[in-house]
Amino acid sequence: MTALWFERALLAEGWARDVRVAIDAGRISAVEADVPPQPGDERHAIGLPGLANLHCHGFQRGMAGLSETRGRPDDDFWSWREIMYRFLDRLTPDDIAAINALAFVEMMESGFTRVAEFHYLHNDADGRRYADPAETAGAVVAASAESGIGLTLLPVFYAHGDFGGTPPAPGQRRFLSDVDSFAALVEASRAKLPADATFGIAPHSLRAVTAEELAAIVPLAGDGPIHIHAAEQRREVEASLAWSGQCPVEWLLNHADIDARWCLVHATHLTESECDRLAASGAVAGLCPVTEANLGDGIFPADRYLAKGGMLGIGTDSNILIDPAGELRALEYSQRLRERRRAMLGSDAIPSIGERLFREALAGGARATRAGTGIAAGEPADLFSLDAEDPMFAGTDSATLFDRWIFGARTPVVDCVWRGGRKWVEGGRHVARDDVAERYKAVLRGLLA
Ligand code: ZN
Repeated sequence: MTALWFERALLAEGWARDVRVAIDAGRISAVEADVPPQPGDERHAIGLPGLANLHCHGFQRGMAGLSETRGRPDDDFWSWREIMYRFLDRLTPDDIAAINALAFVEMMESGFTRVAEFHYLHNDADGRRYADPAETAGAVVAASAESGIGLTLLPVFYAHGDFGGTPPAPGQRRFLSDVDSFAALVEASRAKLPADATFGIAPHSLRAVTAEELAAIVPLAGDGPIHIHAAEQRREVEASLAWSGQCPVEWLLNHADIDARWCLVHATHLTESECDRLAASGAVAGLCPVTEANLGDGIFPADRYLAKGGMLGIGTDSNILIDPAGELRALEYSQRLRERRRAMLGSDAIPSIGERLFREALAGGARATRAGTGIAAGEPADLFSLDAEDPMFAGTDSATLFDRWIFGARTPVVDCVWRGGRKWVEGGRHVARDDVAERYKAVLRGLLA
């Protein structure tokens, strides 16, 4: 049994002072507020619950910065995807483990304590299943173990190149399954998971899965979550309309029994009706504002969606830059740029935009990963501290603390991070950073030689 003591910490009911968090066997066994530290308690100034990163393709961290040069005048998501396909063509399972490990270390260093890996790179470079169908899932599991991050593994079902069962393109050969081979993949992947991992499935998108296949694979999720990309791009919405007369989210709401089991990733392009229905469904909108900005996707209507009671969480998706504060900042700024207004996403109950969005992301991330969250007895001991000595926090009180971090901090201010009660990050550095970074650098040098 160990204990952490914080001058202030964010609990479910709000900020509390003089908080003692007792930890036993990886879980929080007791939380007391307004108590002094006891001898042997590790003391910190600011304690926060760890966040779940609800949407990640870990290997894409390795191509960060490789697609930011102008190629042709109409560069967009689809031309980026061609670059991504060429990058992943060469990755071995060891490469995937090395790149994911760095991405996961960076997540831990920035305040994420869990990641939902939307894992679609299943086959070898020729498009054949590995002898072990979960070979690459094993690489992701190994990276999560090395980094200490909690894992929600979401094997992806991907069978087609576009709406209506269009044959896949050659660049998609490493992703492909049929319903039977996917069931085998799911079984083999589950068998590799550590005890504290959670598991769901991810039909890639309505471009990659037919209605019949979707119905066939949903039961494989069991009581785990179901994640799907939806309405990220205008071209996707138009293709969906041509296929079914319905937008992608509208089609899912009408045909897929969308409820709290589901996470609709991006959901960028919504009609008002889709927005309101999605908000009422109990599903989580999986927003990835930094990637969505990087890819020129569009702006999610977060103001309307939150006003309607919708749940959202954040993901780092392409991992172009891993930082939960950056995701929340980009989300708020996107709304301001669209409306030419300020302070869009605060609420009457929580006027601080930083705190409101952090709490939304905490709740949505927990739902989308089926993992416990929050600094509360019985929950996993997944939490982090901020460096209260950073100048950004001078004279701060709880009411503006999140805003100073999310909108104002120039340097990384995450200090220590605990996952399952173990301290993995201290002074902003992950305990495995040096080894993981060296291996990553060697892999990238080889891939880019
Ligand atoms: Zn994605």
